[in-house]
Amino acid sequence: MKRDIIIIGGGIVGLCSAYFLQKSGRKVTIIDENDITDSTSFGNAGLLSAFDKSPLSYPGVVLNTLKLMLRGQSPAIIHPSFDIKVYKWLINFMLNANEKRTKKTMMLFEKYGEISLNLYEKMVNEDKLDFDFHRDGMLSVFTEDKSYNERLKKYDYIDEERFKILDKSELKEYLPSANSDKIKGAILFKKNARFDPGLTMIELKRHLIESGVEFILNEKIESIRVEAKEVKHLVSSKNNFYEAEHYIMSTGYQTILASKCNKDLMMTPAKGYSITFEMDKEFTPKVSTIFNDLFVVMTPRRNNVRFTSKLEIGSDDTSVVQKQIESIKKNFFEYNEKFEMRNEKYWTGFRPLTPNDIPLIGRDEDINNLTYAMGLGWLGMTFGPAVGTIINDLVVNDKKNAQSDDILMFSGFYQ
Ligand SMILES: Cc1cc2nc3c(=O)[nH]c(=O)nc-3n(C[C@H](O)[C@H](O)[C@H](O)COP(=O)(O)OP(=O)(O)OC[C@H]3O[C@@H](n4cnc5c(N)ncnc54)[C@H](O)[C@@H]3O)c2cc1C
Repeated sequence: MKRDIIIIGGGIVGLCSAYFLQKSGRKVTIIDENDITDSTSFGNAGLLSAFDKSPLSYPGVVLNTLKLMLRGQSPAIIHPSFDIKVYKWLINFMLNANEKRTKKTMMLFEKYGEISLNLYEKMVNEDKLDFDFHRDGMLSVFTEDKSYNERLKKYDYIDEERFKILDKSELKEYLPSANSDKIKGAILFKKNARFDPGLTMIELKRHLIESGVEFILNEKIESIRVEAKEVKHLVSSKNNFYEAEHYIMSTGYQTILASKCNKDLMMTPAKGYSITFEMDKEFTPKVSTIFNDLFVVMTPRRNNVRFTSKLEIGSDDTSVVQKQIESIKKNFFEYNEKFEMRNEKYWTGFRPLTPNDIPLIGRDEDINNLTYAMGLGWLGMTFGPAVGTIINDLVVNDKKNAQSDDILMFSGFYQ
């Protein structure tokens, strides 16, 4: 049986692509090697933070990271690796850490962030999906004078719709646990949003099933048969053959299938952690809070709170390393009053990180019926819907990459 569209990988990117393709009247099948209950799209911070956000490869990142490493506070770890791709990625990352690239990336973040946030709002309002979605801003907290002063220079004007520089008592209101003697400053960026990523995934999946999208779960796609510039079929771990008119690859940080199609994707898995816990209401932050200099995020959620942190390159270890959990807590409590954390749950996942934070989306240049939706890095939840609409436009209108302004602007195949 030949299907219409097969999406390999049901993370946020796969589900969002399915959402828009299904709305365009296409018959969609999602195949996932797991049961879509715990990928990178589940345990993350849930920040929808495309505004006033610098990319990871900002000017000065290398020096700042080295300084934090010397102090034992560094969230970033580069493990020695025999994989040459890791070093190629690092060189590319450093080349992108310049002023010009940062400005361009921030402009793209805002453009596609606005599109995504509006689409999430539409899903919540029109499809009545419960994402625990809040467009209540993001608090940026600085623990270093240098980074705070640099940021203040950038925001030396008044724009009440966009941001507010908080004084100490306002900081305490938003972040009751803050040790205001140690924190250098805080800015509330008002355009960002947040949601519960796991709940969003469950709701989206439920909605897609109800809308007629087919899910084939716990079946890994092991190989792709290509003949005469077309994918002929996929072969799964259960030795099933799947044939379709068009195939979309959204396998997150995993690039093995892409390399089987001779596509060398410039991305690397970057391991991160989250700790989800209950705490007293009096200390719970009012909005999601990012500790810029520590790379720790604290997100309030419906029934609990979540810390996320760490960025490990060159590791494929899927286990939770207790030392990293303790390091996240140590960094956080150095700048916050102590409070009790109850029922802690630890999680780890891999970001599909490109060297310039621009995703790898678009049609394969040699295989006519294959499209990639990969490389969403540390902002996949933020850009999921925008990428879904771009993929939908390419596939439904049978466009080449060069015919899509979005691909030319927002795809790492061109940037
Ligand atoms: C600690 C941490 C915090 C983060 N915080 C944020 C945040 O606040 N805001 C934000 O926007 N982003 C955040 N991110 C990034 C975000 O989580 C990712 O960008 C996003 O989840 C990537 O989605 P994806 O669909 O590409 O991949 P995934 O969610 O990894 O989905 C890929 C799917 O493909 C399946 N798959 C892979 N290979 C195969 C195969 N061969 N056959 C079948 N199925 C396959 C997998 O099982 C998986 O279900 C964070 C990430 C981490 C780790």
